[in-house]
Amino acid sequence: MTYIAAEDRYESMPYRRLGTSGLKLPAISLGLWHNFGDDFSIQNQREILRHAFDRGVTHFDLANNYGPPYGSTETNFGRIFADDFRPYRNELVISSKAGWDMWPGPYGFGGSRKYLLSSLDDSLQRMGLDYVDIFYHHRPDPDTPIEETMAALDQAVRSGKALYAGISSYSATLTLQAQKIARDLGTPLVIHQPSYSVLNRWIEDGEPNVLQACEQAGMGIIAFSPLAQGMLTSKYLDGVPENSRAAQGKSLDADLLSDENIAHLRALNDIAGQRGQSLAQMAIAWALRDQGGLSVTSVLLGASSVKQLDDNLGALDNLDFTDDELSRIDEHGGV
Ligand code: NDP
Repeated sequence: MTYIAAEDRYESMPYRRLGTSGLKLPAISLGLWHNFGDDFSIQNQREILRHAFDRGVTHFDLANNYGPPYGSTETNFGRIFADDFRPYRNELVISSKAGWDMWPGPYGFGGSRKYLLSSLDDSLQRMGLDYVDIFYHHRPDPDTPIEETMAALDQAVRSGKALYAGISSYSATLTLQAQKIARDLGTPLVIHQPSYSVLNRWIEDGEPNVLQACEQAGMGIIAFSPLAQGMLTSKYLDGVPENSRAAQGKSLDADLLSDENIAHLRALNDIAGQRGQSLAQMAIAWALRDQGGLSVTSVLLGASSVKQLDDNLGALDNLDFTDDELSRIDEHGGV
């Protein structure tokens, strides 16, 4: 059936400005790392994407090697985009990345100009798009001069194949270096995509830390895996369900689900309950919290069902924390 987006799709989602750029992102964005490859029903993928957009999630995040197999997520997304979302292209922020391994040989990973620009062309072709809104370097590459990587992102923007440039998992120091080069080139390097959650707070470490560096660089932050791949949900509190990421031996190491860690997750779940939230909702609200004037712009989460997505969107009903709640969460974070 032809998809017609919900008329009230802009009524409940907050949109937050990305650093000092003109671009706004929804407080909650959807990532397609898992659950959108060829191992997952296309109908389910379509339902999740339609529902997300109906609820104001205007940003979908992809990468060249999402699948399995590599590339298939972009191909599947392209199919659904052509059927459902083409009339809404101007209402969507679609991103892709290159940096991790994609094809065999010396030109299929890293940060070289050769890899990044050919990968972007392939991504556009798979998705059936003329441009992506954001093109990222997916991870720092110590073997490529950062000047070359930034020049490749600059070329991606100048050629009209990307509107903005981004970096992912860069340290604070590297972020500042990247922004200096990008500014000299005139490239809109507007976003950093680090991992961040109650259990993984590395962007708060160091002086300057990643949050401070991005503020200084005028960049926004989109935090990936805010639910620690499902650990910060009720999913694993009573064992490892079949079909879960941990059960399938995918990217979530089941060893992390030790008795000690589960005890911390239960304690966090109790705090969430006292706030009238699910654990997932509290984890999302926490990642979006104000940190003395600094904050991430958007959280980038995954979902394997519409039900999960709806649970997660419920976080927006309570984004405020008391000092007491924050210090109790601190006691059980970082497991
Ligand atoms: P999350 O931490 O949000 O984990 C998502 C997973 O948690 C879901 O797939 C699901 O697991 C489980 N889950 C989500 N909501 C619920 C719920 N309400 N109740 C129970 N379980 C729930 O994020 P991801 O690790 O998926 O990463 C999100 C996105 O971040 C990626 O899609 C990608 O776009 C980006 N990313 C970027 C990286 C980078 O290097 N730049 C690296 C990793 C991710 P299940 O599937 O088992 O049901």
